[in-house]
Amino acid sequence: MGLKSGMDMAPYQVSLDWIDRQQKAMVNQVEAWSRVNSGSHNLPGLADMGAKVTEAFSALDGDFESIALPPSSHVTPSGDLEPLPLGPVYRFQKRPDAKRRVLLTGHLDTVFAKDSPFQAPRWLDDTILNGPGVADMKGGLIVMLYALLAVERSGLADDLGWEVLISSDEEIGSIGSAAILTERAPHAHIGLTYEPALADGTLAGPRKGSGNFSIVVRGRAAHAGRAFHEGRNAVVALAEVIAALDGLNGQREGVTVNPAVISGGAAPNIVPDTAVLRVNARVKTHEDARWVEQALEEIRWRISSREGYDLMVHGGFNRPPKPISAANQALFDVVARCGDALGLKVAYQATGGCCEGNNLAAAGLPNVDTLGVRGGKIHSSDEFVLVDSFAERAKLSAVIMLGFAQGHFDQALMREGA
Ligand SMILES: [Zn+2]
Repeated sequence: MGLKSGMDMAPYQVSLDWIDRQQKAMVNQVEAWSRVNSGSHNLPGLADMGAKVTEAFSALDGDFESIALPPSSHVTPSGDLEPLPLGPVYRFQKRPDAKRRVLLTGHLDTVFAKDSPFQAPRWLDDTILNGPGVADMKGGLIVMLYALLAVERSGLADDLGWEVLISSDEEIGSIGSAAILTERAPHAHIGLTYEPALADGTLAGPRKGSGNFSIVVRGRAAHAGRAFHEGRNAVVALAEVIAALDGLNGQREGVTVNPAVISGGAAPNIVPDTAVLRVNARVKTHEDARWVEQALEEIRWRISSREGYDLMVHGGFNRPPKPISAANQALFDVVARCGDALGLKVAYQATGGCCEGNNLAAAGLPNVDTLGVRGGKIHSSDEFVLVDSFAERAKLSAVIMLGFAQGHFDQALMREGA
């Protein structure tokens, strides 16, 4: 083992054996954490989960800071802007002035709201645990933690500085924490993010970018019988907007637009004065994103220039696309070598999904963003983790960080001026 990859694993064996002995502790921890509802909008649940994560990560004996975020805003079904409170970002760091620096990121929020029926873990068999967040990504946070614990115990980390950012708003597009990711990314040489790998261990390669938009059309209300012609029907105008947006599909390779949620109107005998659409767009390149924004601007102008109508577009591309740069490919190759040394085959696959890795890449930080557990069916009540992957994936991250700390990857990873 380890010879084919050209890596001498002997110095790391003590760390790897220690991780193997933590397998049961990791599984117990994910079961406990899965029981805490931490939906992105459940602030008390996020605080509870944040306290648990802070306590667990305090074992690393680094500097700790909880960063409160200002509220974001949200368009209500009636088209008005409302403040949207966000949970904090938790930041841990050690040896910030070390020669080699890694930024590790993850999130403690889930897509499961406080009143979701899916609130607790359940064993499907001896090896598969089903539960909220077990893969995405409470399980991933545990992989990150145990890899760091192993690195800190190794005595080989003097030249490794690490910083951990754990957000509470990833599942709602990192609307508040993105600015912190962008600010911290340039301080590190490599980024490691703990979204789940696919069940077979495949990691995410290039990722599309994503934008969420709320489109609010205002018209003029009128009695449908007595004054129909005085009305300006916002629902009809929105129908035209939806058709125009759907018409963008197929025009440009790799770009998709999904008009998804609508609201509007009050009663059948009133000409509706408000209609609201939520739409998501996915893009492969920054040029694609500009193209979608341009199309939205043309639609806005077309509707707003009509007498009695107004159209407002809220939101934007909160996840830039993540194409794979040469520096990022070099990191992918290093991670594959580390996998090889552990007997794990590491392959990468392009995905339309996106995560914090998109933001780190846009800020110039090469990163691998699916270093968490192996699992699947995320964002559904069938979410599962293959529990054998806890020790397996913690060892992978530990070897990446130990090899990096020892300077074995300097040629591939240490960028000029970084
Ligand atoms: Zn996630």
